[in-house]
Amino acid sequence: MRSAVFYEGREIRVEDVPTPTPAPDEVLVRVGAAGICGSDLHHYRGANPWGQPLRTVDRRGHELAGVVVEVGAEVRGVRPGQRVGVEPTHLLGCGHCRPCRRGAYNICRTRETGGMERRRSAGFSEFDVAPAANLFPLPEDVSLDVGAIVDVYACAVHALNRLPARDVNAVVVIGTGAVGLTLGQVARATGARKVIVVGRREAALRAALEVGAADEVLNCNGAGDTGEAVRELTDGEGADAVFETVGGEGDTAAQAVAAAAFGGGVVVIGCFTRDVTVSYHEAAAKEVELRWSNGYSSWRGRREYQMALDLVAGGRLRASPLISHRFTLEETAEAFAVAADKRASGAIKVVVNPQPAVT
Ligand SMILES: [Zn+2]
Ligand SMILES: [Zn+2]
Repeated sequence: MRSAVFYEGREIRVEDVPTPTPAPDEVLVRVGAAGICGSDLHHYRGANPWGQPLRTVDRRGHELAGVVVEVGAEVRGVRPGQRVGVEPTHLLGCGHCRPCRRGAYNICRTRETGGMERRRSAGFSEFDVAPAANLFPLPEDVSLDVGAIVDVYACAVHALNRLPARDVNAVVVIGTGAVGLTLGQVARATGARKVIVVGRREAALRAALEVGAADEVLNCNGAGDTGEAVRELTDGEGADAVFETVGGEGDTAAQAVAAAAFGGGVVVIGCFTRDVTVSYHEAAAKEVELRWSNGYSSWRGRREYQMALDLVAGGRLRASPLISHRFTLEETAEAFAVAADKRASGAIKVVVNPQPAVT
């Protein structure tokens, strides 16, 4: 089969590789769509936020959806021909540790390194395998392109489970990338009264309003600026719930603390490539509850991927306008170049269609 192979992160060649064979509990999926994630772009730029050794030769693509073509001998309840979204295999936990036992496998200490040979989805490929338990049948009204970004919605669902946004005066979302926009959409769809999206690019802020991710938008540049502007929109109070979705090297964690109300909460979802600094004085004076959000798993017995899929399928969220660009598998290098330069390309979510004919 054809698959995109990443050399030293940045050099992408589409090559012939062996088609994977599903293990007894696994399923082979013909990939219809795979999204480029911000975390793929860190790797593409040579950054390594998770402290793992950078792989010199790698295959990627963890936001994917497709059609089942083959099931392992022990698989029940999934059949060839079924359209499915795939919860990526890098989220698999060991199943035995304390977090895994309570369903929080996203914080399994040995996630991705725990004994199993294959721990990375490779959606930028014609085919990929996943454990049957990671497959979620897609309702008819969910396309494979949208199915691919249910993963992003699940990250938003998890962050909002960590800090519910219902019954708060205002929700601030810092960042206008795909995570910021999905978060704003999910917050509004699940009962947030007022969502304020903060960013730096006018076009992206307009898009936030257009796709229903925001009630109001703010163009801000620094912590003081953000805090002041958010207080102006919240009767001088600041926001009870703030979600940071940018990461990288910037000061958006400090902006989040600045935007928070006294007694408010901050969730950091963005993936930082260095340690973050917040104002002790401000955070302590406000008693800001600072939380972190790392992928997703299950919440009170329900899979967060399924919760996200239910929201998308119910038509309460406008998911498809978030997909700004589509490329074929052979064009994966171009797709990454477009995704990595949002300012020039206006990209929100870039999707690669390895087998577009299967929709
Ligand atoms: Zn992702
Ligand atoms: Zn575990």
